[in-house]
Amino acid sequence: MRAVTFTTPGGPLEIREIDEPELDETGVVVETEACGICRSDWHAWRGDPLWESRDFDDGHVFGHEPAGVVVEVGSEVEHVREGDRVTVPFNLGDGTCPSCRSGRSNVCDNRIPLGLAPESKGAFGERFHVPWADYNVVHLPDSVSSVEMAGLGCRFMTSFHALVHRADVTAGDWVVVYGCGGVGLSAVHIADALGANVVAVDLFDEKLSFASELGAVETVNANDVADVPAAVRALTDGGAHVSVDALGIAETCQNAVKSLRKRGQHVQVGLTSNEEGGEVALPTDRMVLNELQFIGAVGMPRPRYDELFRMMDRGGLDPAAVISETVSLDQTPEILASMTDFDTVGIPVITEF
Ligand SMILES: [Zn+2]
Ligand SMILES: [Zn+2]
Repeated sequence: MRAVTFTTPGGPLEIREIDEPELDETGVVVETEACGICRSDWHAWRGDPLWESRDFDDGHVFGHEPAGVVVEVGSEVEHVREGDRVTVPFNLGDGTCPSCRSGRSNVCDNRIPLGLAPESKGAFGERFHVPWADYNVVHLPDSVSSVEMAGLGCRFMTSFHALVHRADVTAGDWVVVYGCGGVGLSAVHIADALGANVVAVDLFDEKLSFASELGAVETVNANDVADVPAAVRALTDGGAHVSVDALGIAETCQNAVKSLRKRGQHVQVGLTSNEEGGEVALPTDRMVLNELQFIGAVGMPRPRYDELFRMMDRGGLDPAAVISETVSLDQTPEILASMTDFDTVGIPVITEF
């Protein structure tokens, strides 16, 4: 089958013929119909801190935002059938550890990030394997297309989990979102759907106007103001109730925290780049004196997809709105390369394999 394959960190990504995925007893093989292209794929390809120790083999396949149709089912699988339309959370859970048993598959002790660990080939190819399928497979409602699901990707469910389950966003709150890439734009859209007033911050006007289309009531181009958090506090009558750093660089993380009003909540969803090496200094005294909370959010627990689907069904959320373009597998290497200059707006989704 054809797939986009890794060679070396930051090196060429090549389209190659590779072996079919190997089916295990508890797994299924899915024919890929759509797969989002994400900044996490870019980080992994480049060998950024979180990924550098993972040592991907030549021939590794990224891609963790798929939707497709089940074509092969392992002998021990009970609840998934050939022909089922499915997706999976990017963090695959074993279904048996304490976190999985309490419904928090996103922080499974043995989680395997699809396509983002050497032992897990992803969905930038014609087919991919899902381990522990009974636990991980999410059946798509008829109303959700494969392209919409791929548009939803890791970004949409990460933002949904961050704002709905981790922070306490209520209607009328000010929510500031730093970084209007995929996660950030999704956060803007979801916060708006929850009834919040959203401020979007980025360096690119093009991304900010996309954020406005998705519901941001105010935007700040960080190039245009000397003190970004002060500008946000001025726009939000003293500070946001909830801040989101969707980028993960020191400056956006710190500025996001400084944009909060007293007792505000910061949700960190962006992972850091090489520069930060996984650590960012925080305005600790300010956090103490203003009783600020700093919250991490990763992915979304498998059992909570239905909430998201219900909200989509009601018409409140439209994940397809963040899709910028549909592309072919052959275009994938150049699209990942273009992310190096941050010059992508919205989400490209592969629909031709
Ligand atoms: Zn687990
Ligand atoms: Zn992703």
